[in-house]
Amino acid sequence: MKIIIIGAGPGGYETALLAAKRGVEVTLVEAGPVGGTCLNEGCIPTKAFCKNAEVLDGLREAAAFGVTDLSYGFDFKTVVDRKNAVVEQLRGGVEGLLGHKLISLVHGKASFKDEHTVVVDSVEYTADYIIIATGSVSASLPIPGAELPGILTSKEILDIEQIPQRLCVIGGGVIGLEFASIFRSFGSEVTVLEYCKDILPRFDTDLAKRLKQSLGKRGIDIQTQAQVTSISESEGSYTVSFTRKGKEETVVADKVLMAVGRRANLDSMNYEEIGLECTRRGIAVNEKMQTNLPHIYAIGDINGLMMLAHAATFQGIVALDHIMGVENNIDLSVMPAAVFTSPEAASVGMTEDECKEKGIPVKCLKSFFRANGKAVTMGETDGFCKIVTAAEPKDGQDSPYAAGRILGCHLFGPHASDIVQEACAMITNKTTIENFRRIIHTHPTLTEVLQSALFE
Ligand SMILES: Cc1cc2nc3c(=O)[nH]c(=O)nc-3n(C[C@H](O)[C@H](O)[C@H](O)COP(=O)(O)OP(=O)(O)OC[C@H]3O[C@@H](n4cnc5c(N)ncnc54)[C@H](O)[C@@H]3O)c2cc1C
Repeated sequence: MKIIIIGAGPGGYETALLAAKRGVEVTLVEAGPVGGTCLNEGCIPTKAFCKNAEVLDGLREAAAFGVTDLSYGFDFKTVVDRKNAVVEQLRGGVEGLLGHKLISLVHGKASFKDEHTVVVDSVEYTADYIIIATGSVSASLPIPGAELPGILTSKEILDIEQIPQRLCVIGGGVIGLEFASIFRSFGSEVTVLEYCKDILPRFDTDLAKRLKQSLGKRGIDIQTQAQVTSISESEGSYTVSFTRKGKEETVVADKVLMAVGRRANLDSMNYEEIGLECTRRGIAVNEKMQTNLPHIYAIGDINGLMMLAHAATFQGIVALDHIMGVENNIDLSVMPAAVFTSPEAASVGMTEDECKEKGIPVKCLKSFFRANGKAVTMGETDGFCKIVTAAEPKDGQDSPYAAGRILGCHLFGPHASDIVQEACAMITNKTTIENFRRIIHTHPTLTEVLQSALFE
């Protein structure tokens, strides 16, 4: 069997490696550096910046920990160089792995000649199956000024030379908030303009409200229900105009980050020419990631289902297993997600609102990091945890879930991105509160925040 995979991000390269390990011959085509958005301009470089932000925040709080000599300088060039070194190191690792004898890595932009043939620099490649993993691109707003040079995307802000004194972030989603948090720690005055009623529109509303307050306490000005209407530039600074509750307002900034989401990279290949069905969201797929052309699959951001690196990787496993006839019971609906702000936020499973909309009776259990011994020793007590569980249906109600089953977990606080993983395991294994309560947690650890909620 032969497979062509187009795109070497966390969807494409991980699937290529798994296929090769299983003895399948793979042609992997990549137009840019291997690792895709995630490694080169997404997850990894932003988290390298997050580490710098954490170091700086630690220095600012050092006096409370008895450090008396607090003079320090901050060289932003070293921050960017370190970020680049981290990316290069990991990219080298991926390149090494892709040296597998069953993988032919082809550098260049792929296009379809027909539904069985892919062309790269005039060379034709054919295979039994094709997996498209061509990712996504930054979206923008159709407003005057959006195309001004100097309006940054999440890619460009990673390589700016100076920390802006004033940064305006358009969009209070995951990417916008991560950069807002990072640059606040770097010393910028940060304003976030979000169109929706709450930040993080897809997250639990309780979590979003509390995280907004927490980021506000750090000095990040977050304006929700703010509809950005135009951007203008004068002598190197930008005026971002927006309407909020019927009033015209402006923010003046030295840099503007456009972080209004990402869209499937539908322009990168001639998908529709070969009859591939696409929607506004991306290439249409079934639950096995199969397109309307049964030998072609689409995984990761290009199908628009869930724009996360681990979603791309796991969708790749689902697609490959389907191609190879391997039984697979991965539940892609239990998809953890993290926001690497300070403090972090994380979420997995259903939210309380979602359950209410679906008529599922729930009971929510809460706990707070201020009552967690480890968080107090760390001086990081801001945060809460909410566990959504199925409740006993009342008269006339119905529920597809047994009472006590854990359906969702939503939290923010120190290391939330790590803690959520335990809840993810519980939800994947359809665990009940009773069973979760039997699991002994080491003391003192941050994961006890889950236990505290369950014993509420
Ligand atoms: C700033 C930022 C931070 C992020 N942080 C996180 C995070 O912390 N955690 C997380 O889970 N997700 C994060 N993401 C999202 C994550 O990066 C994506 O979900 C993930 O990269 C999608 O993987 P993919 O394989 O589908 O596509 P990509 O990683 O985008 O890879 C697609 C590849 O296809 C190639 N390609 C495109 N067209 C062609 C063509 N015609 N021929 C050949 N090659 C082609 C591209 O060059 C690219 O390398 C972040 C994204 C951004 C922008």
